[in-house]
Amino acid sequence: MQVKTILNRVQKFKSFVYKSVRWSGSEAEPALEVEVVERANSRPVCSGCGRHGPGYDRQPRRRFEFVPLWGIKVYLVYAPRRVECPCCGVRVEQMPWAMGKRPLTKAYGWFLAEWARRLSWKETAEAFRTSWESVFRSVEMAVEWGRHHQDLSGVKAIGIDEIAWKKGHKYLTLVYQIDEHRKRLLWIGKERKAKTLLRFFRWFGAERSHELQYICSDMWKPYLKVIAKKASQAVHILDRFHIMAHFSKALDEVRAAEVKELKAKGYEPVLTKSRWLLLKRPEHLTETQEAKLAELLQYNLRSVRAYLLKEEFQFFWGYVSPYWAGRFLDQWCTKTMRSKIEPMKKVARMLRNHRTLLLNWFRAKGQLSSGVVEGFNTKAKLTARKSFGFRTYRGAEIALYHVLGDLPTPEFTHRFC
Ligand SMILES: [Zn+2]
Repeated sequence: MQVKTILNRVQKFKSFVYKSVRWSGSEAEPALEVEVVERANSRPVCSGCGRHGPGYDRQPRRRFEFVPLWGIKVYLVYAPRRVECPCCGVRVEQMPWAMGKRPLTKAYGWFLAEWARRLSWKETAEAFRTSWESVFRSVEMAVEWGRHHQDLSGVKAIGIDEIAWKKGHKYLTLVYQIDEHRKRLLWIGKERKAKTLLRFFRWFGAERSHELQYICSDMWKPYLKVIAKKASQAVHILDRFHIMAHFSKALDEVRAAEVKELKAKGYEPVLTKSRWLLLKRPEHLTETQEAKLAELLQYNLRSVRAYLLKEEFQFFWGYVSPYWAGRFLDQWCTKTMRSKIEPMKKVARMLRNHRTLLLNWFRAKGQLSSGVVEGFNTKAKLTARKSFGFRTYRGAEIALYHVLGDLPTPEFTHRFC
Protein backbone atom coordinates (compact mmCIF):
# COMPACT_ATOMS: atom_id res chain seq x y z
CA MET A 1 0.00 0.00 0.00
CA GLN A 2 1.19 3.48 -0.76
CA VAL A 3 1.12 6.56 1.47
CA LYS A 4 -1.11 8.12 -1.20
CA THR A 5 -3.72 5.42 -0.62
CA ILE A 6 -3.74 6.20 3.09
CA LEU A 7 -4.06 9.93 2.44
CA ASN A 8 -6.94 9.40 0.03
CA ARG A 9 -8.64 7.39 2.70
CA VAL A 10 -8.26 9.95 5.49
CA GLN A 11 -8.51 13.18 3.53
CA LYS A 12 -9.59 13.43 -0.06
CA PHE A 13 -10.03 16.74 -1.89
CA LYS A 14 -12.41 17.32 -4.75
CA SER A 15 -10.22 19.43 -7.00
CA PHE A 16 -6.74 18.27 -5.97
CA VAL A 17 -4.87 14.98 -6.09
CA TYR A 18 -1.86 13.53 -4.29
CA LYS A 19 0.92 12.89 -6.76
CA SER A 20 4.24 11.64 -5.46
CA VAL A 21 5.59 11.00 -1.98
CA ARG A 22 9.29 11.30 -1.21
CA TRP A 23 11.68 11.41 1.71
CA SER A 24 13.05 14.74 2.80
CA GLY A 25 14.59 16.15 5.96
CA SER A 26 17.67 14.65 7.55
CA GLU A 27 18.70 11.22 8.79
CA ALA A 28 17.98 12.29 12.37
CA GLU A 29 14.75 14.03 11.53
CA PRO A 30 13.22 12.45 8.48
CA ALA A 31 10.10 13.87 6.86
CA LEU A 32 7.73 12.94 4.06
CA GLU A 33 6.82 15.38 1.35
CA VAL A 34 3.60 14.77 -0.50
CA GLU A 35 3.31 16.55 -3.81
CA VAL A 36 -0.19 17.95 -4.41
CA VAL A 37 -1.45 19.04 -7.83
CA GLU A 38 -4.77 20.34 -9.08
CA ARG A 39 -7.02 18.01 -11.02
CA ALA A 40 -6.69 18.41 -14.79
CA ASN A 41 -8.80 21.26 -16.18
CA SER A 42 -9.88 22.47 -12.75
CA ARG A 43 -10.15 26.22 -12.40
CA PRO A 44 -8.82 27.90 -9.25
CA VAL A 45 -11.19 29.33 -6.63
CA CYS A 46 -10.66 32.90 -5.42
CA SER A 47 -9.77 33.05 -1.73
CA GLY A 48 -11.53 36.42 -1.46
CA CYS A 49 -15.02 35.54 -2.64
CA GLY A 50 -15.02 31.79 -3.13
CA ARG A 51 -15.86 31.93 -6.85
CA HIS A 52 -14.05 30.21 -9.69
CA GLY A 53 -11.96 32.47 -11.88
CA PRO A 54 -9.35 32.36 -14.60
CA GLY A 55 -5.79 31.52 -13.53
CA TYR A 56 -3.30 34.38 -13.47
CA ASP A 57 0.06 32.86 -12.52
CA ARG A 58 1.64 30.45 -10.10
CA GLN A 59 3.50 31.14 -6.88
CA PRO A 60 6.54 29.21 -5.64
CA ARG A 61 5.95 25.87 -3.93
CA ARG A 62 4.87 26.01 -0.30
CA ARG A 63 4.95 23.38 2.42
CA PHE A 64 1.96 22.77 4.67
CA GLU A 65 2.52 20.61 7.70
CA PHE A 66 0.15 17.64 7.95
CA VAL A 67 -0.57 15.20 10.81
CA PRO A 68 2.62 13.21 11.52
CA LEU A 69 2.73 9.53 10.63
CA TRP A 70 4.56 7.17 13.06
CA GLY A 71 6.38 10.19 14.47
CA ILE A 72 7.55 11.20 10.99
CA LYS A 73 6.69 14.73 9.95
CA VAL A 74 4.47 14.95 6.87
CA TYR A 75 4.18 17.95 4.54
CA LEU A 76 1.88 18.66 1.65
CA VAL A 77 3.77 20.54 -1.05
CA TYR A 78 1.88 22.69 -3.49
CA ALA A 79 2.55 25.68 -5.75
CA PRO A 80 -0.58 27.86 -5.35
CA ARG A 81 -2.12 29.47 -8.39
CA ARG A 82 -3.30 33.03 -8.41
CA VAL A 83 -6.75 33.90 -9.71
CA GLU A 84 -7.63 36.94 -11.73
CA CYS A 85 -10.95 37.53 -10.01
CA PRO A 86 -13.43 39.98 -11.53
CA CYS A 87 -14.48 41.13 -8.05
CA CYS A 88 -11.33 40.91 -5.95
CA GLY A 89 -8.50 41.44 -8.43
CA VAL A 90 -5.49 39.13 -8.42
CA ARG A 91 -5.74 36.81 -5.42
CA VAL A 92 -4.17 33.57 -4.33
CA GLU A 93 -6.46 30.57 -4.78
CA GLN A 94 -8.37 28.84 -2.00
CA MET A 95 -6.74 25.63 -0.80
CA PRO A 96 -9.14 23.41 1.12
CA TRP A 97 -6.40 22.09 3.42
CA ALA A 98 -4.88 25.46 4.30
CA MET A 99 -5.40 27.41 7.53
CA GLY A 100 -5.26 31.00 6.28
CA LYS A 101 -1.70 32.01 5.68
CA ARG A 102 -0.28 29.55 8.19
CA PRO A 103 2.19 26.84 7.22
CA LEU A 104 -0.15 24.29 8.83
CA THR A 105 -2.94 22.24 7.32
CA LYS A 106 -6.37 22.39 8.92
CA ALA A 107 -6.12 18.70 9.76
CA TYR A 108 -2.90 19.29 11.69
CA GLY A 109 -4.38 22.40 13.33
CA TRP A 110 -7.32 20.37 14.65
CA PHE A 111 -4.96 17.64 15.73
CA LEU A 112 -2.87 20.09 17.78
CA ALA A 113 -5.97 21.83 19.15
CA GLU A 114 -7.38 18.52 20.39
CA TRP A 115 -4.12 17.69 22.15
CA ALA A 116 -3.98 21.19 23.63
CA ARG A 117 -7.16 20.30 25.49
CA ARG A 118 -5.35 17.49 27.30
CA LEU A 119 -1.86 18.98 27.63
CA SER A 120 -0.67 22.52 28.19
CA TRP A 121 0.17 24.45 25.03
CA LYS A 122 3.84 24.22 25.84
CA GLU A 123 3.68 20.46 26.31
CA THR A 124 1.73 20.07 23.08
CA ALA A 125 4.36 22.05 21.17
CA GLU A 126 7.13 19.93 22.68
CA ALA A 127 5.39 16.61 22.11
CA PHE A 128 4.92 17.27 18.40
CA ARG A 129 8.11 19.25 17.90
CA THR A 130 6.32 22.35 16.77
CA SER A 131 6.24 25.96 17.97
CA TRP A 132 4.12 27.44 20.75
CA GLU A 133 2.81 29.89 18.17
CA SER A 134 1.55 27.03 15.97
CA VAL A 135 -0.33 25.51 18.88
CA PHE A 136 -1.81 28.89 19.80
CA ARG A 137 -2.96 29.54 16.21
CA SER A 138 -4.44 26.04 16.01
CA VAL A 139 -6.43 26.50 19.20
CA GLU A 140 -7.51 29.92 17.98
CA MET A 141 -8.75 28.37 14.74
CA ALA A 142 -10.63 25.65 16.64
CA VAL A 143 -12.24 28.20 18.97
CA GLU A 144 -13.29 30.47 16.12
CA TRP A 145 -14.81 27.57 14.22
CA GLY A 146 -16.53 26.23 17.33
CA ARG A 147 -17.98 29.62 18.33
CA HIS A 148 -19.27 30.11 14.83
CA HIS A 149 -20.98 26.71 14.78
CA GLN A 150 -22.23 26.46 18.37
CA ASP A 151 -25.92 26.10 19.15
CA LEU A 152 -27.15 28.78 21.55
CA SER A 153 -30.76 27.69 21.73
CA GLY A 154 -32.41 26.59 24.96
CA VAL A 155 -30.27 28.62 27.37
CA LYS A 156 -32.53 29.20 30.39
CA ALA A 157 -30.05 29.94 33.17
CA ILE A 158 -26.82 31.87 33.19
CA GLY A 159 -24.24 32.65 35.85
CA ILE A 160 -22.08 35.74 35.76
CA ASP A 161 -18.70 35.67 37.41
CA GLU A 162 -15.46 37.56 37.36
CA ILE A 163 -11.87 36.50 37.84
CA ALA A 164 -8.84 38.62 38.51
CA TRP A 165 -6.43 38.53 35.66
CA LYS A 166 -2.76 39.48 35.76
CA LYS A 167 -1.48 41.44 38.70
CA GLY A 168 -3.15 44.65 39.71
CA HIS A 169 -6.87 44.97 39.53
CA LYS A 170 -7.64 43.68 36.09
CA TYR A 171 -10.75 41.58 35.71
CA LEU A 172 -12.42 39.34 33.19
CA THR A 173 -16.17 38.89 33.16
CA LEU A 174 -17.28 35.35 32.40
CA VAL A 175 -20.82 34.27 31.54
CA TYR A 176 -21.74 30.61 31.91
CA GLN A 177 -24.74 28.58 30.93
CA ILE A 178 -25.73 26.78 34.15
CA ASP A 179 -28.79 24.79 33.12
CA GLU A 180 -29.25 21.35 34.61
CA HIS A 181 -28.84 19.77 31.15
CA ARG A 182 -25.94 21.86 29.89
CA LYS A 183 -23.12 23.76 31.52
CA ARG A 184 -20.51 25.69 29.59
CA LEU A 185 -18.70 28.99 29.21
CA LEU A 186 -20.67 31.21 26.84
CA TRP A 187 -18.84 34.48 26.79
CA ILE A 188 -15.78 36.37 28.07
CA GLY A 189 -15.28 40.11 28.26
CA LYS A 190 -12.53 42.39 29.39
CA GLU A 191 -13.11 44.19 32.73
CA ARG A 192 -16.28 44.07 34.84
CA LYS A 193 -18.08 47.26 34.03
CA ALA A 194 -21.67 47.84 33.05
CA LYS A 195 -20.62 48.14 29.46
CA THR A 196 -18.83 44.80 29.64
CA LEU A 197 -22.06 43.01 30.49
CA LEU A 198 -23.97 45.11 27.96
CA ARG A 199 -21.64 43.71 25.33
CA PHE A 200 -22.60 40.20 26.40
CA PHE A 201 -26.31 40.91 26.01
CA ARG A 202 -25.72 42.48 22.62
CA TRP A 203 -23.84 39.38 21.49
CA PHE A 204 -26.43 37.03 23.00
CA GLY A 205 -29.30 38.85 21.30
CA ALA A 206 -32.51 40.37 22.64
CA GLU A 207 -34.65 37.37 21.77
CA ARG A 208 -32.52 34.85 23.66
CA SER A 209 -32.06 37.30 26.56
CA HIS A 210 -35.83 37.52 26.98
CA GLU A 211 -36.03 33.75 27.28
CA LEU A 212 -33.69 33.61 30.25
CA GLN A 213 -35.38 32.37 33.41
CA TYR A 214 -32.57 32.52 35.96
CA ILE A 215 -29.52 34.69 36.34
CA CYS A 216 -26.97 34.16 39.06
CA SER A 217 -24.45 36.83 39.96
CA ASP A 218 -22.52 38.64 42.62
CA MET A 219 -23.82 41.83 44.25
CA TRP A 220 -21.68 43.88 41.94
CA LYS A 221 -23.62 47.05 41.19
CA PRO A 222 -22.84 47.47 37.46
CA TYR A 223 -24.04 43.89 36.85
CA LEU A 224 -27.23 44.35 38.88
CA LYS A 225 -28.16 47.40 36.85
CA VAL A 226 -27.56 45.80 33.47
CA ILE A 227 -29.40 42.58 34.37
CA ALA A 228 -32.45 44.52 35.54
CA LYS A 229 -32.48 46.37 32.23
CA LYS A 230 -31.73 43.57 29.77
CA ALA A 231 -33.44 40.54 31.27
CA SER A 232 -35.99 41.86 33.73
CA GLN A 233 -38.19 38.77 33.31
CA ALA A 234 -35.52 36.48 34.77
CA VAL A 235 -35.31 35.64 38.47
CA HIS A 236 -32.09 37.21 39.58
CA ILE A 237 -30.27 35.25 42.25
CA LEU A 238 -27.28 36.21 44.31
CA ASP A 239 -25.26 33.09 44.54
CA ARG A 240 -24.08 31.52 47.73
CA PHE A 241 -20.48 31.23 46.61
CA HIS A 242 -20.10 34.97 46.09
CA ILE A 243 -21.95 35.91 49.26
CA MET A 244 -19.85 33.66 51.43
CA ALA A 245 -16.76 35.17 49.81
CA HIS A 246 -17.81 38.54 51.27
CA PHE A 247 -17.94 36.92 54.71
CA SER A 248 -14.45 35.52 54.32
CA LYS A 249 -13.14 38.91 53.35
CA ALA A 250 -14.76 40.56 56.37
CA LEU A 251 -13.40 37.88 58.67
CA ASP A 252 -9.93 38.39 57.29
CA GLU A 253 -10.16 42.09 58.00
CA VAL A 254 -11.35 41.60 61.57
CA ARG A 255 -8.63 39.09 62.28
CA ALA A 256 -5.79 41.10 60.77
CA ALA A 257 -6.75 44.18 62.76
CA GLU A 258 -7.05 42.22 65.97
CA VAL A 259 -3.71 40.45 65.54
CA LYS A 260 -2.06 43.82 65.18
CA GLU A 261 -3.83 45.17 68.24
CA LEU A 262 -2.92 42.17 70.42
CA LYS A 263 0.69 42.37 69.40
CA ALA A 264 0.80 46.08 70.24
CA LYS A 265 -0.59 45.33 73.70
CA GLY A 266 1.95 42.56 74.19
CA TYR A 267 -0.55 39.70 74.52
CA GLU A 268 0.30 36.18 73.58
CA PRO A 269 -0.34 35.96 69.86
CA VAL A 270 -3.23 33.47 70.05
CA LEU A 271 -4.52 34.56 66.71
CA THR A 272 -1.47 34.12 64.57
CA LYS A 273 -1.70 31.16 62.20
CA SER A 274 -5.42 30.90 62.90
CA ARG A 275 -6.53 32.24 59.53
CA TRP A 276 -7.57 28.90 58.03
CA LEU A 277 -9.21 27.76 61.26
CA LEU A 278 -11.64 30.62 60.93
CA LEU A 279 -12.14 30.55 57.18
CA LYS A 280 -12.63 26.84 56.65
CA ARG A 281 -15.96 25.13 57.24
CA PRO A 282 -15.66 23.22 60.57
CA GLU A 283 -16.31 19.85 58.87
CA HIS A 284 -13.19 20.36 56.74
CA LEU A 285 -10.78 20.85 59.65
CA THR A 286 -8.19 18.29 60.68
CA GLU A 287 -8.14 16.97 64.24
CA THR A 288 -5.29 19.25 65.32
CA GLN A 289 -7.02 22.20 63.77
CA GLU A 290 -10.23 21.28 65.54
CA ALA A 291 -8.45 21.26 68.90
CA LYS A 292 -6.85 24.59 68.16
CA LEU A 293 -10.19 26.07 67.13
CA ALA A 294 -11.80 24.85 70.36
CA GLU A 295 -9.09 26.61 72.33
CA LEU A 296 -9.44 29.75 70.32
CA LEU A 297 -13.18 29.86 70.87
CA GLN A 298 -12.67 30.23 74.62
CA TYR A 299 -11.36 33.72 74.14
CA ASN A 300 -13.90 36.46 73.71
CA LEU A 301 -12.18 37.94 70.71
CA ARG A 302 -13.76 39.95 67.93
CA SER A 303 -12.42 37.44 65.42
CA VAL A 304 -14.13 34.64 67.26
CA ARG A 305 -17.43 36.48 67.46
CA ALA A 306 -17.21 37.31 63.76
CA TYR A 307 -16.51 33.66 63.04
CA LEU A 308 -19.56 32.55 64.99
CA LEU A 309 -21.73 35.06 63.15
CA LYS A 310 -20.52 33.70 59.85
CA GLU A 311 -21.13 30.09 60.85
CA GLU A 312 -24.57 30.99 62.09
CA PHE A 313 -25.39 32.56 58.75
CA GLN A 314 -24.76 29.23 57.00
CA PHE A 315 -28.17 28.11 58.36
CA PHE A 316 -29.73 30.61 55.99
CA TRP A 317 -29.04 28.41 52.97
CA GLY A 318 -30.82 25.46 54.50
CA TYR A 319 -34.25 27.05 54.61
CA VAL A 320 -36.99 25.87 52.29
CA SER A 321 -39.50 28.68 52.62
CA PRO A 322 -38.46 32.18 51.52
CA TYR A 323 -40.65 33.59 54.29
CA TRP A 324 -38.76 31.89 57.12
CA ALA A 325 -35.45 32.49 55.44
CA GLY A 326 -36.36 36.18 55.37
CA ARG A 327 -37.18 36.14 59.08
CA PHE A 328 -33.87 34.48 59.82
CA LEU A 329 -32.02 37.00 57.67
CA ASP A 330 -33.61 39.96 59.48
CA GLN A 331 -32.77 38.57 62.91
CA TRP A 332 -29.23 37.82 61.90
CA CYS A 333 -28.78 41.33 60.54
CA THR A 334 -30.17 42.99 63.70
CA LYS A 335 -27.86 40.94 65.89
CA THR A 336 -24.84 41.67 63.71
CA MET A 337 -25.57 45.38 63.63
CA ARG A 338 -25.27 45.33 67.43
CA SER A 339 -21.96 43.46 67.36
CA LYS A 340 -19.77 46.56 67.04
CA ILE A 341 -17.63 44.67 64.50
CA GLU A 342 -17.49 47.06 61.60
CA PRO A 343 -16.58 44.67 58.72
CA MET A 344 -19.39 42.32 59.75
CA LYS A 345 -21.82 45.22 60.02
CA LYS A 346 -20.86 46.11 56.48
CA VAL A 347 -21.83 42.62 55.34
CA ALA A 348 -25.15 42.87 57.20
CA ARG A 349 -25.96 46.21 55.57
CA MET A 350 -25.15 44.77 52.17
CA LEU A 351 -27.40 41.77 52.73
CA ARG A 352 -30.24 43.99 53.92
CA ASN A 353 -29.95 46.12 50.82
CA HIS A 354 -30.28 43.06 48.59
CA ARG A 355 -32.92 41.24 50.59
CA THR A 356 -35.25 40.53 47.65
CA LEU A 357 -32.53 39.17 45.41
CA LEU A 358 -31.17 37.06 48.25
CA LEU A 359 -34.54 35.47 48.87
CA ASN A 360 -34.79 34.62 45.16
CA TRP A 361 -32.33 31.86 45.98
CA PHE A 362 -35.22 29.97 47.60
CA ARG A 363 -37.58 30.69 44.74
CA ALA A 364 -35.15 29.08 42.32
CA LYS A 365 -34.18 26.17 44.54
CA GLY A 366 -34.07 22.89 42.70
CA GLN A 367 -34.07 24.63 39.33
CA LEU A 368 -30.38 25.37 39.29
CA SER A 369 -27.47 23.26 40.30
CA SER A 370 -25.87 25.46 42.90
CA GLY A 371 -22.12 25.38 43.01
CA VAL A 372 -21.80 25.35 39.22
CA VAL A 373 -20.48 28.91 39.15
CA GLU A 374 -18.01 28.06 41.90
CA GLY A 375 -16.81 25.00 40.00
CA PHE A 376 -16.32 27.01 36.84
CA ASN A 377 -14.58 29.75 38.80
CA THR A 378 -12.00 27.26 40.07
CA LYS A 379 -11.40 25.81 36.60
CA ALA A 380 -11.15 29.25 35.01
CA LYS A 381 -8.56 30.38 37.54
CA LEU A 382 -6.58 27.19 36.99
CA THR A 383 -6.64 27.67 33.23
CA ALA A 384 -5.56 31.27 33.60
CA ARG A 385 -2.77 30.27 35.95
CA LYS A 386 -1.40 27.54 33.66
CA SER A 387 -1.08 30.49 31.44
CA PHE A 388 2.12 30.07 29.51
CA GLY A 389 1.96 33.17 27.41
CA PHE A 390 -1.41 34.45 28.51
CA ARG A 391 0.21 37.79 28.93
CA THR A 392 -2.16 38.93 26.25
CA TYR A 393 -5.90 39.07 26.68
CA ARG A 394 -6.33 37.16 23.43
CA GLY A 395 -4.35 34.22 24.81
CA ALA A 396 -6.43 34.03 27.98
CA GLU A 397 -9.66 34.35 26.05
CA ILE A 398 -8.80 31.59 23.58
CA ALA A 399 -7.61 29.21 26.31
CA LEU A 400 -10.74 29.70 28.41
CA TYR A 401 -13.10 29.12 25.50
CA HIS A 402 -11.14 26.06 24.47
CA VAL A 403 -11.22 24.45 27.91
CA LEU A 404 -14.62 25.55 29.21
CA GLY A 405 -16.67 26.39 26.11
CA ASP A 406 -17.78 22.83 25.25
CA LEU A 407 -17.44 23.87 21.61
CA PRO A 408 -18.34 21.65 18.66
CA THR A 409 -15.64 20.25 16.37
CA PRO A 410 -15.98 19.13 12.74
CA GLU A 411 -16.56 15.43 12.13
CA PHE A 412 -13.19 14.74 10.51
CA THR A 413 -11.07 15.69 13.54
CA HIS A 414 -11.95 12.39 15.20
CA ARG A 415 -10.11 10.56 12.45
CA PHE A 416 -6.80 11.90 13.69
CA CYS A 417 -7.16 12.11 17.44
ZN1 LIG B 1 -12.87 37.00 -5.64
